[in-house]
Amino acid sequence: CEGAVVIDGKAIANSIHQEIAQEVSYLWNNYGRVPGLAVVIVGDRKDSQTYVRMKRKACTEVGMKSISVDLPGDASEETILDHVMELNADPEVHGILVQLPLPKHVNEERILNAISIEKDVDGFHPLNIGKLCMKGREPLFVPCTPKGCIELLLRMEIPIKGKRAVVVGRSNIVGLPVAMLLNKYDATVSIVHSSTTDCKSLVKEADIVIAAAGQAEMVKGDWIKPGAAVIDVGTNYVKDPTKKSGQRLVGDVDFTEAKKVAGWITPVPGGVGPMTIAMLLKNTLEGAKRAFSQPEDS
Ligand code: NDP
Repeated sequence: CEGAVVIDGKAIANSIHQEIAQEVSYLWNNYGRVPGLAVVIVGDRKDSQTYVRMKRKACTEVGMKSISVDLPGDASEETILDHVMELNADPEVHGILVQLPLPKHVNEERILNAISIEKDVDGFHPLNIGKLCMKGREPLFVPCTPKGCIELLLRMEIPIKGKRAVVVGRSNIVGLPVAMLLNKYDATVSIVHSSTTDCKSLVKEADIVIAAAGQAEMVKGDWIKPGAAVIDVGTNYVKDPTKKSGQRLVGDVDFTEAKKVAGWITPVPGGVGPMTIAMLLKNTLEGAKRAFSQPEDS
């Protein structure tokens, strides 16, 4: 049985990185400046450190300037705010990303609200999210993981307009913005969440499924409408004694079963993950291009 087309997120992300590197060198040749991305990390969470390292590395690989702000886990809210304000004012910085989650004593909302919307490359500022939700408004930045999901659909030429889309999950960083983005692309969108009584029958109606629940292999093969596009955002570690590490990364979709039914499917890893970083770079590039084209900034 042939099954679904497996979407190679890594390859697509790589070609986006190349496109970005070309644009960065064009900017350097024409403006004598490169885009700058500031990544702020507070504390020493292992997973956050890994993500931050990957983001900084990707940034320098495409020729952008990476600005690192590393703060101790007990840094005060005021200290973090001071750093954000400094980055807001720095003309070499076009994107500011504060790695989440922040330590418990810090008010995340207050920090995210402080990031200038012109530099909000994560797209989490309420003004950017608000514009994403509104008809006829365009946010300055769209959150990276949701943008990456749509980019996969677009590059695979999967139709969105007029299609039924179901998003599993409604978090501020993935589920909600991806649903709003699909709406902007004229899909008919439903959101299911932990209080939804029959996720399966709703998912079964979808031409496009975006799974972002953080529940290992929750979406089964018999939930999928034949031929549907299945984008799996989930990253879950499950026990696997056959692996040296004793664990294995799986998505929110039962890949083996769903692949038999779907038209397209993303693997985990190698699907949405690499796209998130590619979209962060794309957002930073867009922010820089906007800044460079403003006369007072040149
Ligand atoms: P959250 O835990 O913040 O949100 C999960 C959402 O899923 C909630 O809206 C929750 O509902 C819903 N949900 C949980 N269980 C069920 C269920 N059984 N049935 C239906 N809905 C359910 O997670 P995130 O949005 O931050 O992340 C989701 C997944 O995506 C995670 O696995 C995360 O690791 C991954 N991720 C991957 C990224 C990447 O780059 N590849 C980037 C970001 C996240 P309710 O609102 O009712 O609680």
